[in-house]
Amino acid sequence: QKGQIRVQTENIFPIIKKFLYSDHEIFVRELVSNAVDATQKLKTLSSIGEAKGELGELRIDVIVDAKTKTLSIVDRGVGMTAEEVDKYINQVAFSGAEEFLDKYKDANIIGHFGLGFYSSFMVSDKVEIFTKSFRENTKGVFWSCDGSPEFELYEIDKEDRGTRIVMHINEESQEFLEPGRIRGILEKFCRFLPVAIYFKDAGEEVKTDEVVEEKPINNTNPIWVKKPSELTADDYQQFYRELYPYGETPLFWIHLNVDYPFNLTGILYFPKIKQSYEIQKDKIQLYSNQVFVTDEVKDIVPEFLMLLHGVIDSPDIPLNVSRSYLQGDPNVKKINAHITKKVADKLEEIFRNDRKSFEEKWESLGLFVKYGMMTDDKFLDKANKFLVMEDAAGGTFYTLEEYKAATEALQKNKDGKTVILYTTDPIQQDAYIKAAQGKGYKVIKAETLIDAAFINNMEMKWEGVSFTRVDADIVDNLIDKQEHAASVLSADEETRLKELFQFDAPELRMTVEVKGLSAETAPVVATRPEFMRRMKDMGAAGGG
Ligand code: ADP
Ligand code: MG
Repeated sequence: QKGQIRVQTENIFPIIKKFLYSDHEIFVRELVSNAVDATQKLKTLSSIGEAKGELGELRIDVIVDAKTKTLSIVDRGVGMTAEEVDKYINQVAFSGAEEFLDKYKDANIIGHFGLGFYSSFMVSDKVEIFTKSFRENTKGVFWSCDGSPEFELYEIDKEDRGTRIVMHINEESQEFLEPGRIRGILEKFCRFLPVAIYFKDAGEEVKTDEVVEEKPINNTNPIWVKKPSELTADDYQQFYRELYPYGETPLFWIHLNVDYPFNLTGILYFPKIKQSYEIQKDKIQLYSNQVFVTDEVKDIVPEFLMLLHGVIDSPDIPLNVSRSYLQGDPNVKKINAHITKKVADKLEEIFRNDRKSFEEKWESLGLFVKYGMMTDDKFLDKANKFLVMEDAAGGTFYTLEEYKAATEALQKNKDGKTVILYTTDPIQQDAYIKAAQGKGYKVIKAETLIDAAFINNMEMKWEGVSFTRVDADIVDNLIDKQEHAASVLSADEETRLKELFQFDAPELRMTVEVKGLSAETAPVVATRPEFMRRMKDMGAAGGG
């Protein structure tokens, strides 16, 4: 037998109400999105002549009224006729947005699934709709439902075009009658929606003699939807401050703008970072048609770029994203790869066109680049060209190729590999650095937290290269042992050495000098093995 699955509305309704979204506050986003959609539809229909006459001010009002325990969302959009209410509202999971999208190819519509409206029942005992279509010769319509599968629908007199949704907030959801709470939710989800949204607390005293200037809670025209060519550096920096009021000026930014094979816009900022512990992840905000979706961008943004700041907007990422959805979605994989490529291209461009500024920013940049090279092979391929290593002396930077060229022949081990000498502490290892430099070797800095892991990783990935710490024993295979086995202490250090034998001063440092300079004239000459032996003895004797 073949047949059709039937749904029992009585049973399915409570499930929708309870479990549609785990986060109840989402209902605000859904209803405001519907109001935005209704407004955008009207603009589209007007532009093609299907909606006649003046549109008037297109705005959305959100009004919280603690006295009547209602939250209302009012728009001046397309509105609905009685037939439309019956079709779009009374049929759960029938999306008018989807239908409109199919018909008009209007990419600015937010809705998709035809469930958003019902999220209002998560927080309401009763929901009412007062609506009037933009179509000529239609009457206003009233619809009401108390959360049971029964509804009321009849015609009313309504002057103005558009829709007013009134939610009678239930006992458990009284928080949504607090003006501060609603304002907070609006600022989170609706901050960059394309229609002006005004928030009003009906209970607020308004002095009649005072003219209060109304200000929308949103910026209807965020810069990521504009063309990069219309924007100045100042615009980008200002937008950064809008997103992160306490952030430092970003190093630079990338304006993403793709329309094939998926839609994606956004701006990614490289923040200034000195220490890796300052890094804050989850600073990128994900939007879908200017509606905030989440700031958990894992899977959409490659792991190493989660350190970046900014916004990504893609209508191809649906509003109800969930972890499992994102992982399996082919678009998400493409978006991820595209972002990686864009970032690598931008870095290469700065490196080629303005190497000086690239090097100046390396302290912050290096972290992203190294992390990216360790975790993403596609990025590694590109970054091999612009990763730089700073000379221990400071100020000079080598790419891998440059380092190889500069040390050719001189710095090879017996396997013929280029030995990259590095220092993890230029002060502590100063003597070894000097010795190596004296031989004409290049020593690079590897002082940051990520460097140890990076070096390990690159030793596997870079062919013909091996890393050696400048004070490691095998450096002796490169640096002739005979020539500077002697370690010379200055008068000052001699005193400290003496002290050490009485009081344990672990920071005592030795200088190593190349033979022939001053070993004879120095007051004390201690060889390194000798020194180490004594230190060991001291340790064995219980720390002096
Ligand atoms: P979706 O937005 O995914 O289509 P919803 O459940 O949010 O689903 O809404 C269902 C439909 O109801 C919408 O597609 C639209 O046709 C209609 N609708 C909802 N709210 C409004 C509104 N404020 N003005 C006009 N139509 C609306
Ligand atoms: Mg919707």
